[in-house]
Amino acid sequence: MTSRVALVTGGTGGIGTAICKRLVDMGHRVATNYRDEARARAWQQAMATEGYPVTLVPGDVASTESAQAMVRAVEAQLGPVEILVNNAGITRDTTFHKMTAEQWHEVINTNLNSVFNVTRAVIEGMRERRWGRIVQISSINGLKGQYGQANYAAAKAGMHGFTISLARENARLGITVNTVSPGYVATDMVMAVPEEVRAKIIADIPTGRLGRPEEIAYAVGFLVAEEAAWITGSNLDINGGHHMGW
Ligand code: NDP
Repeated sequence: MTSRVALVTGGTGGIGTAICKRLVDMGHRVATNYRDEARARAWQQAMATEGYPVTLVPGDVASTESAQAMVRAVEAQLGPVEILVNNAGITRDTTFHKMTAEQWHEVINTNLNSVFNVTRAVIEGMRERRWGRIVQISSINGLKGQYGQANYAAAKAGMHGFTISLARENARLGITVNTVSPGYVATDMVMAVPEEVRAKIIADIPTGRLGRPEEIAYAVGFLVAEEAAWITGSNLDINGGHHMGW
């Protein structure tokens, strides 16, 4: 198989870590960003101990300048980015009538404007080289909405419009663009939800449990494979049956 250069944003988080591992297992050279260097270096060390080397570069995906510098740093160390996984994301949950402009903009900047910031920095190179794989990590709540998540659901839904437009623009150039929409996965983001709310969520999931980060990473690995060349503009729902259909 061909070893590619992969950039996973938010790779130090729950789902991001599993995606990094999956891509290393596939033989790719993987990089991710950090904001807190000491924490990220400890993560990198733990990953290396498990046999997963990951290159770290500084980067705030919510900033256009920082995202561009992040991509340049990856390219200087590993070479051109061939696989991009736009995974970094945050929540700032509250009902809309109580939501501050800051909570709105923080989530839109981190979860949606980031996709512009990072993808814009890699797309021209992919077009020149006639090969690329881009995957957005959206959410079940970008498809069905969620109480207290107007900001998050708007950002995640925006990823789908972005995905299908970018897929059209680049389909003839060997670049695929897809979205993965996880349901509730057992990471810090979901464990921060109050336990009684989490119990209600789990009761609603047909498989009767939260997802595992590895189950999301598996789908990302599938979409970035050489053999997935004819899958573009798709959304893959991975949610234990929590949301089916449109
Ligand atoms: P985590 O909170 O575990 O990880 C989020 C990662 O994103 C961290 O590495 C974090 O870095 C990084 N990040 C956040 N903001 C920025 C920023 N401005 N610039 C650079 N990096 C940033 O979340 P998950 O692993 O649970 O989620 C990963 C993705 O999956 C997110 O997009 C999320 O919305 C989505 N998702 C998650 C679900 C779940 O159930 N967990 C369900 C559906 C979708 P730092 O440590 O510096 O904050």
